[in-house]
Amino acid sequence: MHCPFCRHPDSRVIDSRTSDDGLSIRRRRQCPQCGGRFSTIETASLNVIKRSGVVEPFSREKVMSGVRKACQGRPVTEGDLAVLAQKVEEAVRQTGSSQVDTNEIGLAILGPLRDLDEVAYLRFASVYQAFDSLEDFESAIGQLRADHASPAPDESVAPA
Ligand SMILES: [Zn+2]
Repeated sequence: MHCPFCRHPDSRVIDSRTSDDGLSIRRRRQCPQCGGRFSTIETASLNVIKRSGVVEPFSREKVMSGVRKACQGRPVTEGDLAVLAQKVEEAVRQTGSSQVDTNEIGLAILGPLRDLDEVAYLRFASVYQAFDSLEDFESAIGQLRADHASPAPDESVAPA
């Protein structure tokens, strides 16, 4: 890319490091002509195919806004949503495809949302999986209950 200071068409990489989440590389560059230093951030492109067929770049912000609605009135912070969106992005990128559909994004949201808040999870799942009867809710809740029943190490000290 061009030097942002003098528009020289070349630059030299003087340092590069992978971000903590492993999803991007930040490179420090120096312009051989004016000596100006600048950084570039490189990520693999990841596109989302919407139900309408429109393709747009993956956005953590969109994941957050979709989940935020399901979290209304729940003890979920913006920070929680940001962490969730990062997990979703990691999960989707780990599939190795550069293009995913909204269905795969929804699936990737369900797991981390369930860990975060079960009520929000049920709300999100009811819309995403198009629950159309009480039985759908019952089976989703039954699944959550069944998982709660698996012994957790810290439950053994609960008073009888
Ligand atoms: Zn320059």
